[in-house]
Amino acid sequence: MQASGMMRLRSVAARIPNHSRAVHSSLPAGGWAQPTVEDTSTHDPREVFLAGMRHHHTANTAYPIAHGTTVKPYRVRRTRDQKEIRETLIGAYGGLKEMMLYVHVPFCAQRCQFCEYTVVDPKHGRRDEVQDRYFKALFGEFDLYRNMLDTPSKRLVGFDIGGGTPSMASTDNIARTMDKAAECFEMDLKSFEVSIETTPKIAASEPEKIRAYYDMGIRRISMGVQTTDFSLAKRLGREDGDYLLKARENIRNAGFESFNIDLMYGFPSREGGKDKWGETVQNTIDVIDPDHITLYRMRYKGTKMAHLQERIGLTQVNQQGALAAKLLDDNGYKGWIGKNTYSRTPGSSGCSDYLEKRVVQGIPYLGMGLGAQSFSQSSLAYNLGGVTKRLEQYLKSVELGRVPIQDLYHLSHSGAMGKFCSVSFYFGGISLSAFEANFGIPLSVAFPDKMSFALDEGLMERTADGDRLQLTAKGKSHYSGVLALFYAPHVQQHLLEMPGGELGVMDALSSGTTSKRPYVGVPVSRYEYKPGKRDPRPTLSGDWATPVSASRKRDPRPELIGDWALAESAPQDALPTVSI
Ligand code: SF4
Repeated sequence: MQASGMMRLRSVAARIPNHSRAVHSSLPAGGWAQPTVEDTSTHDPREVFLAGMRHHHTANTAYPIAHGTTVKPYRVRRTRDQKEIRETLIGAYGGLKEMMLYVHVPFCAQRCQFCEYTVVDPKHGRRDEVQDRYFKALFGEFDLYRNMLDTPSKRLVGFDIGGGTPSMASTDNIARTMDKAAECFEMDLKSFEVSIETTPKIAASEPEKIRAYYDMGIRRISMGVQTTDFSLAKRLGREDGDYLLKARENIRNAGFESFNIDLMYGFPSREGGKDKWGETVQNTIDVIDPDHITLYRMRYKGTKMAHLQERIGLTQVNQQGALAAKLLDDNGYKGWIGKNTYSRTPGSSGCSDYLEKRVVQGIPYLGMGLGAQSFSQSSLAYNLGGVTKRLEQYLKSVELGRVPIQDLYHLSHSGAMGKFCSVSFYFGGISLSAFEANFGIPLSVAFPDKMSFALDEGLMERTADGDRLQLTAKGKSHYSGVLALFYAPHVQQHLLEMPGGELGVMDALSSGTTSKRPYVGVPVSRYEYKPGKRDPRPTLSGDWATPVSASRKRDPRPELIGDWALAESAPQDALPTVSI
């Protein structure tokens, strides 16, 4: 089974229109965890589909959607010597010849209201001495993995430096990160593109930094723009148009030929105001003229705007998504149905190697840095700091020689399949050969009734080469329902039992309307923490996993009604970059 899976994966890799042809993989040496009873149950495909539709703000690629409940039974016990954590990681990564790396830089000039990522308080994080301490610990984390997994024997096939805003870090710290990766892994920069993220202001005002990235061998750059609604920007005292043009010029002058812009939709529209989303997409094409454009649907969970989720119906989101897809296609940016990234570079997916290989092939990766996520075919991990956004636990853990993981899950077979499939939907569908190579069975055997439902209802179809199960146009407008079909049973159970959501979503979709209060229920934080319950995990000196109720503090800023964007007090450089 394994050998035939490898053969099939070779053939799919040959068809991936991008860069190096990395071949992976093997089934995890450490195997999968025993499933719970909930994880072996089956749920009616239509019911799951409807639950996914109803909860369209929740049923997305951020699997397993409720860490505090769904995957909790698979959490690896933490002990002072981290024996079980180490054994699980060695079982998951030890046998790999190829893998990928994500380095998280959790510093930003400001905390954007729509941000769901791990960013330390900017007041603290922008200080040089804080950043230097952070990078020292980051390199310590590299060393811990080098010793545990013999990483120099593993070839890197993808490497992203994300955040946060990596370009907030000094050039020297980014150069040291590149050197550390080369020291700790087999890394050939000719075989794949390293990607980094920046913001318009930094790219515009620090051209020497952008040039230095290119000189270090980084070949892809992604800039968070999100909106070009300049009238709004002007009202807020911003001159973003100036930043964008200069940023573009500096990025091109540095030599970058793989330049991505992130845009974001799904914000509440202003009462009676015109939706500027179409203008944002067209302006981005006309003014910035990037090689790739990535569209993100706003995810409210865990952001400062979570309470505004109730105002966003699926009809609005679908209309905005469809408008963007049409404008991009008309202007030569191509992408599969349901895929987030569109590219005008022939043969390119527009994504970094790291993202493409993670999404299409499921190549395991280690995420290093504060709150970073790691995933292999049998494990899922989140580093310290994902909840608290504070550095101390992370720094201290590395200092003590402990792997700075907050939660490690040894996944069941179905849990790992669910994670792989969810992430696959970044590209709007699932590679059948990669699925089989990773899990030892075909998708049609793992999800027989769910796959039949998706095909019979015209939500998905096999691509011409037979290798992918891809969303149709109908499936794209029912994205969350289709995606939920491929969740693991215990995650589907959670979704089925969730109250609220957009109750009349199917009627609203068929009539092209949306109700006044389209969605019921404010989401809890992305990475749940239930205060008041005693954490059953042992208390460890040098380990502070239980967060202070930082995320529960009331945001002192006024609630933004009728305006999704930036608070009046937001700093000038608040245009973000978004990592995924
Ligand atoms: S959206 Fe981007 S720039 Fe804004 S706080 Fe989050 S990571 Fe930083």
